[in-house]
Amino acid sequence: MTKNDENDEIIKVAQLSVEDALKELNTSQSGLTIDEVHTLQQKYGKNIFAKAKQEPLWKKFLANFTNLMAILLWVAGIIAFCADLVQLGIAIWAVNIINGIFSFWQEFQADKATEALANMLPSYTRVIRNGKEEKILAKDLVPGDIVKLEEGDDIPADIRVIAATTAQADQSSLTGEVNPVHKGAHAVEDVKKKNHADLNNMIFSGTNMMKGNITGVVVKTGMNTDFGRIAELTQNVAQQKSPLEKELDTLTKQISILAISIGIIFFLIATFFVHYPLVKGFVFALGMIVAFIPEGLEPTVTLSLAGAVQRMAKKHALIKRLSSVETLGSTSVICSDKTGTLTKNEMTVKELWTLEKSYHVSGEGYAVRGHIKEGPKHVFAKDNDTLKEVLLGGFFADNARIQAPDKKHVRYQILGDPTEACLEVVARKGKVDVEAELKNTPRVKELPFDSSRKMMTVIQSSDGTHRFNTYTKGAPNCVVDKCTSYLEHGEIKPITQEIKDKIMRANDGYAKDGLRVLAVAGRNLDQKMMNNLDSATIETVEENLTFLGLTVMMDPPRAEVYKAARECRKAGIKVTMVTGDYGLTAKSIARQIGLTDPDKPLTVITGDALKTMPDDELRHYLEGEVVFARMAPEQKYRVVSMYEKMGNIVAATGDGVNDAPALKKANIGIAMGGTGTDVAKEAADMILTDDNFASIVGAIKEGRGVYSNIRKFLIYILNSNMPEAVPSVLFLLSGGAIPLALTVMEILFIDLGTDMIPALGLGREDPEKGIMDRPPRSPKDHLINKHVLAKAFLWYGLIASIIATAAFFGANFYRGHIFPNLPVVGWDYRQATTVTLAAIIFCQIAAVLNIRYSRQSMFNRHFFKNSMIFIGIIMEIVLLLCISYVPVFQSFFGTEPLNAHDWIMLVCIPIPLILIDELRKWILRKNYKK
Ligand code: ATP
Repeated sequence: MTKNDENDEIIKVAQLSVEDALKELNTSQSGLTIDEVHTLQQKYGKNIFAKAKQEPLWKKFLANFTNLMAILLWVAGIIAFCADLVQLGIAIWAVNIINGIFSFWQEFQADKATEALANMLPSYTRVIRNGKEEKILAKDLVPGDIVKLEEGDDIPADIRVIAATTAQADQSSLTGEVNPVHKGAHAVEDVKKKNHADLNNMIFSGTNMMKGNITGVVVKTGMNTDFGRIAELTQNVAQQKSPLEKELDTLTKQISILAISIGIIFFLIATFFVHYPLVKGFVFALGMIVAFIPEGLEPTVTLSLAGAVQRMAKKHALIKRLSSVETLGSTSVICSDKTGTLTKNEMTVKELWTLEKSYHVSGEGYAVRGHIKEGPKHVFAKDNDTLKEVLLGGFFADNARIQAPDKKHVRYQILGDPTEACLEVVARKGKVDVEAELKNTPRVKELPFDSSRKMMTVIQSSDGTHRFNTYTKGAPNCVVDKCTSYLEHGEIKPITQEIKDKIMRANDGYAKDGLRVLAVAGRNLDQKMMNNLDSATIETVEENLTFLGLTVMMDPPRAEVYKAARECRKAGIKVTMVTGDYGLTAKSIARQIGLTDPDKPLTVITGDALKTMPDDELRHYLEGEVVFARMAPEQKYRVVSMYEKMGNIVAATGDGVNDAPALKKANIGIAMGGTGTDVAKEAADMILTDDNFASIVGAIKEGRGVYSNIRKFLIYILNSNMPEAVPSVLFLLSGGAIPLALTVMEILFIDLGTDMIPALGLGREDPEKGIMDRPPRSPKDHLINKHVLAKAFLWYGLIASIIATAAFFGANFYRGHIFPNLPVVGWDYRQATTVTLAAIIFCQIAAVLNIRYSRQSMFNRHFFKNSMIFIGIIMEIVLLLCISYVPVFQSFFGTEPLNAHDWIMLVCIPIPLILIDELRKWILRKNYKK
């Protein structure tokens, strides 16, 4: 952290009083004017950090030609040249170059995709400009702007605090100090001895608000901030490889070792047992090795992951790390919040309840249209003293604001928390003169809301017209606990247990219908405390309250959630609601949306019960259907850990500062893009831009899809190794009597020519129908398992081998050559190998279509959707035409033209292959529903 010097502006404003600091920055409490903002934007530019220097493109390009695999291929080429096998040498080098360019291109695409994602979640901040509060992009801030920050916000610039309530900032990104630091508005004395971070009236860009609220004036922006100066150092953190990429790394190495070993064994057998000429034996082995090493596997996988990430982003799920895509695919438990994720978080007060009466409220949303009614009669604040207090209390203890429709918005908008905004709406419906109230009795202090104590309190200045100067609102059980009296018919009476029970019965009645209830209470703080507001703390103020009434809100479930919940159950994914809301409300909503199995009993565990619950008991409940209610965010961590200990892959949602540990702990932490705090977003692996539970399920589906695509892709490239290897095996086993049905050059042509684009196409398939009808993949399951190997080698590979071998013998037979008198050189031999090559290519055409769907029939309405598959098939045929008819290719690859008979046979090959595989899938679908 920077030590101060004489001209240091931060130090200068830190020692000034609030008024002088504002003057110094040419601004005022009501903020800058729009003209001033424009001028300052010209002067200071955007509030952003310059991008760190990236590794130059040429270095990234070259890296693709200098990795282990590439070096192996360079050396192989050199050996071929030395052995006077110029064509083979050229082919191997060409393979290496094409592969390098291809890998670079894929890497580049994947980088571009991830970069685009970073720009998709702009950060906003609340400012006061021209005396009006508005939400702007943080990058448009200028020095002199007045900023309002609350718990969980990223601090967008270096800011001098001008007002603060119980504010604490986490400055660990600047100082390494993990404990949050208190911040206040008083001028700092003795600044000379202090580091910037020690100035407790300054907050800094790149750090976060952990608690409380702050209003402050921007001193420095962008690269002029302290963080800006060190930003370049922190930006170059290398991206870690995902488990899948690591697995692929190992897999590539293992297959390469296997290929080299097989090559050596074949070389030895060919030279010493079959007495094949040394040079030929060597070429043979080299070709096998090059063909079997799965070059390009990793970049293709990276690109298909990046493709999935882009698709997910379009469906409102932003993934921060590619590795999360695969983890998502094996998610078996989702711990989800209720408010805003399962429900719309569009609150409307539907009922008001006091110990005298209850009222119905008409109208929906944030438009001030509707009435408070007692039976058919419209009622207003002035008609009933207690009702007036409930409306006033709710409105005062409200930090949100509603905004009438304007040029940009056709509907009423809200700034802030919907739970609070709806209280302004209902106050206006009751004709409370909210503007006059705020002007006459402005707020002097706030004890902000936090999800652990589940309430908040405001202290208003007094003009002598109100019964109370302090209002508390919050979860009914928590507020009622703090009440010692209640208001009825204009009288404050001591509260009894009976009255408390009556309130909680009313609360339960509403909660059973899935409604959200907030209690409002009041208190009159004495003059002594009003004169010394520092002594007004949660402990001293939130006691001896007078209960006023209940506000009952409707927060309808999101329409898409019903289907998503059903989909989860079918997919073997358990959804557990972990909410701060009341048990009965939570249970009712869970049942309404079908979140849990309707045939099983649903247990509600409250945060209080969880505190004393031993692990064994918790484990027992987690095995059944359970909802967690009135939870403190810290407790979510325990639920997530326990699920993980039970062997699950857990996705957990959260939005507050205190959710961050649970988000980090979960295999997939999910933050809300709309309502989530910046701290939660930083801790998460995935951000939902629409805050919607259904988007999580969509992302899981994509995750499963990608994994299955990579497997399909692997099956495709591995299966052709079988018909490529069989000729060599036959050649060796027959002691050379069956000549090689496929030359090394032809093997290279398939693996690194015709197979490339169809394989890429498989990596881009949409998730298959029925992919969410299976239980989640076990995290222990490897990419290549026995099913994959069996499918690749013993099914598709074996069939292709039989067909290719038959094609070789058939072509020879057609020219009058019968085993054991098969030609080993000459036109007939070359033609027979060309037919074998073509037969394998046609088997691969059938294979790509078959492998596209593992269970579903290929004849479905999405048949033509993936154009890459068809481009791949067309390219296969074009390349085959080139190699068999274009003289340059013929002499390079040692091929000859195919004739009409050959073509008839070739075109027929895919038909039985497709039919057999369709039959297999049909049997599979019939017999194995899961
Ligand atoms: P979820 O955890 O599913 O998002 P939630 O909003 O109910 O639901 P919290 O934000 O932890 O969870 O709130 C806990 C409880 O505190 C709420 O059920 C409500 O009773 C009360 N509450 C929520 N917001 C406020 C607020 N702004 N002021 C006062 N009380 C609040």
